[in-house]
Parts: sequence; structure tokens; C-alpha cells
Amino acid sequence: MRRALEHARRAIGRTTPNPLVGACIVTPDGIVVGDGCHERAGDPHAEVEALEEAGERARGATLYCTLEPCVHTGRTGPCTERIMAAGIVRVVAAMEDPFPLVQGRGFAALRQRGIVVDTGVARDEAVRLNQPFITAMREKRPFVILKAATSLDGRMAAAPGERTQLTSEASARHAHYQRAQVDAIAIGSGTLLVDDPLLTARLVYRERPLTRVIFDRGLRASPSARVFSTLASGPVIIVTSPEARRLHADRAHGLESAGATLLEVGDPSVTAAIRALSTHDIQSVLLEGGAAIHQAAWEEDVVDYVQLYVAPMTIGANAPGFLEGMAFTPASLHEQRTRALGPDSLIEGYVHRPD
Ligand SMILES: [Zn+2]
Repeated sequence: MRRALEHARRAIGRTTPNPLVGACIVTPDGIVVGDGCHERAGDPHAEVEALEEAGERARGATLYCTLEPCVHTGRTGPCTERIMAAGIVRVVAAMEDPFPLVQGRGFAALRQRGIVVDTGVARDEAVRLNQPFITAMREKRPFVILKAATSLDGRMAAAPGERTQLTSEASARHAHYQRAQVDAIAIGSGTLLVDDPLLTARLVYRERPLTRVIFDRGLRASPSARVFSTLASGPVIIVTSPEARRLHADRAHGLESAGATLLEVGDPSVTAAIRALSTHDIQSVLLEGGAAIHQAAWEEDVVDYVQLYVAPMTIGANAPGFLEGMAFTPASLHEQRTRALGPDSLIEGYVHRPD
């Protein structure tokens, strides 16, 4: 199963809207005769890749897979049929597929045909690997990673509305690596106005377009913002309100001419804005700030994971703080990890224990 999980990991950041899945086939003598990874949506499923490599040697063998095999016909045929036809006698799976068309039906179909099915092997690891997919299925919204850079005393900038470069080159590199793994990066319109960021994943290889999202209910974004110079990296979605679109029709038109996709959401909550991204096949969002959008997301309990880049300096109590007035301490994160990035520290962890 560990080997299958390694194969699944190879496709991180590339499979949405599908889950990450790895598989391998082992003969009764303990010989691995097939490996598989679901590389991207539309490509063969991991089980099929492994079965094809194994060929005749799959007869009488055990299939290890990180997720329940599918039983429905999507872009590819059901894996359960292929597994039965290949002569697999036992299937070991890490977890059930939360996709509504599967949810245990894959296991049931295999058992019905006399195949031994064992589940729950390395389940914790498999669940953590597919948090975006699982969140999309269960909560009907993307998995939200809150990312922020702060000083040692938990401050975000020297003054409100001012840009302060806190963290090092090593932290910037890691942040770009993180951007390469998600479906979308999101910021508030205030950050767009103050920082005018490019919002691209630099210094890393990324195969798919990266969607950039601006939460902008008042339509304050300018068509000359630098993010519109990077449309080759991926689309720019501006989440706004129906009122703003009506009141500022010219601005809306200007932004669309600049290449933006306007997404109107009536409900003013951050949760509703994030949920609306599901319609664009987004299962993971890196929420990069600023302070207002971080605070609102935290207050609405829509944050799933926190990544805090902490620089070894103090700014002083007059500067705006990270999640000021909110019940947050890094110590309250589940499965918290800390690592050094040059002179900085990255503290990260889950807000709720994954299950
Ligand atoms: Zn399948």
C-alpha cells in the first residue's frame, strides 16, 4: 500500500476534478507485476494502468489501491469490470470512494463476484492525500489553505494597507512550490490594490493552468492590474456581487475586456464565494490574504489548513496582526509541523482533524 500511495503522490496538483489514486499488483509469491498512477483527469485509472502492465500475471494476484475502485462509467469504463476480467482474487483498498456514484458500490460489486476485499489499510495516509477531493465531495466546496507571512510577534505589515516584505527567498520558493500544487490562488481586492501581484507559480514546473481568484464584491479591481498580464498562466476569476455588476457596468465590462471571468454571488459570505468556485472545477484554494479575507474565512470556519511563514523579526504592536482578536494559536493546529526555510520557519497544520 505504501508503494501504491507513492504512485498516487506523483500526480499531486494534476488530477482535479478526479482524486489522486495509485495501485500495484502483487503475485502470491510477493512479486510486484504492475504499478499504476492516475496521471490526470481523462487518463486511465491507476488500477487499469497496473492491470495493463501485469497482463496475464494478474491472474490469481492481489491488487492494492489507495481508493475504492470505480463501478460507474465516467470518461473511462468501470475498473471493477477490468479487475474481475483480469482474474484478480483479492483487492486491498485504503479507503472508500466518497464520490456519490461509488461510495461502497465498488467493493460490493467485487465481493459479489467472489473477490476478497480488505479495506482501511493505511487509511489515514490516503485520507490526508485526498483532502481536496474529499472536501469537494462532502462539503461541496474546495479545500481551503490559509497562507500568511508574519513577524515573530504575529504582525503582517508595518502599517495597514502597506506592503512589507517579511520572509526570505527560501520562503518565497516554498510558497511558489505550494502554488503549483493547488487548483487556485485567491486574494482579496485590497491586496490586489496594494500589492498588485502577478499571482503565478514561479521557479517551479506546473503542467496545468493555475486559476487566480480575486474576491471583489465592490468591483474595485483595475483592468490594468498586473495579474491580467499573466493570463497565459491561467484564468482570472473575479468573484463579485450582482449589485456591483449592475452599479458599475462599465468597470465590469472593462475587466471582462482585460480577460477576467466575472462570477456573481449574491450571498456576501466568504464561504459562499469559495463554494461558487466549485462550478469552475476548483477543489483546492490557497487563500493568500489580506487580513480582512483571512479573518472572515477564519470566523466562518471555512479554513481547513494553515501555512504560516514566520520571519525572525519583530515589528511592534501598532502593526496589523494575523487573525487579530480571533481564537488562533499555531499550537491549536492538528498534526502541526514546523520546518526551517532559510532564516524563517514554516508552521503548518490542519484546523480540524482529517477523517
Ligand atoms: Zn476506475
